[in-house]
Amino acid sequence: MFVVFFYFCAMIAERLQFFAQELHATKARLIAVSKTHPVETLQLAYEAGCRIFGENRVQELVPKYEALPKDIAWHLIGTLQSNKVKYIAPFVSLIHSIDSFKLLETVHKEANKHNRVIDCLLQIYIAQEETKHGLSYEEAEEILTSEALPALTGVRVVGFMGMATFTDNEAQIRQEFRNLAQFSQSMQTKINLPNVQLSEISMGMSNDYKIAIEEGSTLIRVGSAIFGSR
Ligand SMILES: *Cc1c(COP(=O)(O)O)cnc(C)c1O
Repeated sequence: MFVVFFYFCAMIAERLQFFAQELHATKARLIAVSKTHPVETLQLAYEAGCRIFGENRVQELVPKYEALPKDIAWHLIGTLQSNKVKYIAPFVSLIHSIDSFKLLETVHKEANKHNRVIDCLLQIYIAQEETKHGLSYEEAEEILTSEALPALTGVRVVGFMGMATFTDNEAQIRQEFRNLAQFSQSMQTKINLPNVQLSEISMGMSNDYKIAIEEGSTLIRVGSAIFGSR
């Protein structure tokens, strides 16, 4: 039992170290995607130096936030329902999954209740898959150019998130990431609002983070390559 436990600690520390080296001299930061893993496992990663965790469900994020040290930055990376925003509004540090103007409005309202400004990413549908979620480029641009956006002072749109197609075709993955980075650049020059600062591109997971970094990712979301398979 103990041997297994120590092996597990060493493995997580080693993998975090590996990613620290991978990201050295890049502009990307690592989000440790800890969904489905118990608090004890997150605690090990914390002790190994990890301070940014990503969870995809509010019901799982809130109890982990409550159980763990308060200097952790919690990122919500999964689909968010409007009626759940209130549970994370007091503490969430970045929401990756804004998929409508209405959701952004809800985040603004809930943030105001806590005198906070919550950083958000617009999730863009970049994959050639029916199963993935998010806005089209046109819809994202509509949100960013909406006349109602400047009034949402409780949110700051800091960039975009995308998930590439799950495929072995590296060229396709690269193209999807490249399109997102180009879109981000064109919006950066076009949009000039106090609550929009498009500096982040959240793209890249365990299987495609290397390509994502090459294409300009600033936030990689890595789960299984740190914690093992779920
Ligand atoms: C689970 C998840 C990840 C991490 O996936 P891995 O392949 O385990 O690295 C990244 N982003 C989102 C949105 C996820 O739900």
